[in-house]
Amino acid sequence: MSAIADANAYPPDIVALRDGLDGFLKQEVIARHERHAALLDDERRLFTDDGRYHPDALALIREVRMAASRAGYYGMCVPTSLGGGGLGALAWFGGWERIFHRCADHYWLGHYAISHWAFGPSAVLERVSPRARDEMLAGMMAGSHSMCFGMSEPDAGSDAMMMKTKAVREGDGWRISGSKIWTTNSPYADYCIVFAVTDPARAAQRKGGISAFLVPTDAPGFVVERVIKMWGSVGGNEAILHFDGIRVEPWQLVGELDRGFAIAMLGVNLGRLYNSARSVGTARWAMEKAFDYVKVRQAFGHPIAEYQGVMFPLAESAMQMHGAHLMCLNAARLVDGGAPARKEVAMTKAFATQMAAQTLDRVIQAHGAIGMTNELGLTEAWKSLRKVNIADGTNEILRRTIVGEMLGGDLDW
Ligand SMILES: Cc1cc2nc3c(=O)[nH]c(=O)nc-3n(C[C@H](O)[C@H](O)[C@H](O)COP(=O)(O)OP(=O)(O)OC[C@H]3O[C@@H](n4cnc5c(N)ncnc54)[C@H](O)[C@@H]3O)c2cc1C
Repeated sequence: MSAIADANAYPPDIVALRDGLDGFLKQEVIARHERHAALLDDERRLFTDDGRYHPDALALIREVRMAASRAGYYGMCVPTSLGGGGLGALAWFGGWERIFHRCADHYWLGHYAISHWAFGPSAVLERVSPRARDEMLAGMMAGSHSMCFGMSEPDAGSDAMMMKTKAVREGDGWRISGSKIWTTNSPYADYCIVFAVTDPARAAQRKGGISAFLVPTDAPGFVVERVIKMWGSVGGNEAILHFDGIRVEPWQLVGELDRGFAIAMLGVNLGRLYNSARSVGTARWAMEKAFDYVKVRQAFGHPIAEYQGVMFPLAESAMQMHGAHLMCLNAARLVDGGAPARKEVAMTKAFATQMAAQTLDRVIQAHGAIGMTNELGLTEAWKSLRKVNIADGTNEILRRTIVGEMLGGDLDW
């Protein structure tokens, strides 16, 4: 994005933040990646036999998180009550968009430069008990520790109320049994926010009855059953978890008993704006690659940029990118203004993620065979964007939210 476009989109402090992030990414992410390319660019070295990141890769992730924490980026959107920068949704979107624009999925260590709400410190930690804060906050803010968010289960995805994991009363605490699936960062996390049924009758009536607990991943009974491998990859970031009667004490309850969904709601807008930023930023990165390529690639005596068959699909994507970008800025501003913006955030995430997967497909097509090679990183980016059409609310569930809000009378935007 040019300086003028940036100044139109953001107030000066966020423009400065994005410029600062550029320097950080160059120095702490791209340079580090280049130094360790032999490990990071080769899946056979990157993952161990059981599909986990190699310990050297985990050390690099931690290094980036901690460098970002020292530089002030990691905790920039964490509430000030937790020692963070307290910046809002527009800074969140602008920061992540810049990261994905510069790094896409190639320089993926960049994805650790800002604390993601489900894996690092966020407003969720305002709801943990004072004892839990004492135990975990410093490490989480420093980037030395991380967490994961265990909501989805094999039989409970979009309809999370169908979860079967239960926390049964035992004295003044509980014992948690069950399983989770798709839990991102769980093979590497120090803590897991586990959602479990605490009042089966209320849960069956869909009137609460589900609670959130902070569980250290080294607790007896916490088992990472296996890392899930997706898209032909030999490793991954998501896992299946099994809970075999994990004992939790009252101080491990997060938020109020039986009102665990309120904890999940704290991250909904952030998660959806994050995925929107990921979509807009990565699409921008890909589009720049396409425009570099079409000017130099020759066919039938001309640069392919002269063929409308090549360029019109890119123009189509450019229109969609522009629309998605404006939707993102608007949704972030609404959230910062205190509006729930459920409809607008849902629209933004659905539109941006679909736009981005389609844009990557078009950019790959414009490159011909070279677009499918690992070197360009386009297929990796396409896969990651395709994935976010499902994670954090599928395209269909987002439409359900949109029409639900409209049926409730919200016909404005
Ligand atoms: C990369 C990735 C990371 C993830 N990370 C996490 C994580 O960290 N923690 C976590 O808890 N979960 C995580 N998830 C899980 C994610 O939240 C679920 O995949 C998502 O909620 C959808 O659930 P499902 O996959 O079970 O699909 P289902 O709910 O089974 O849906 C299947 C299909 O039916 C459609 N569908 C369902 N209900 C309706 C309806 N009412 N109307 C129309 N269509 C409908 C869906 O849109 C989808 O197309 C992750 C998923 C992915 C892909």
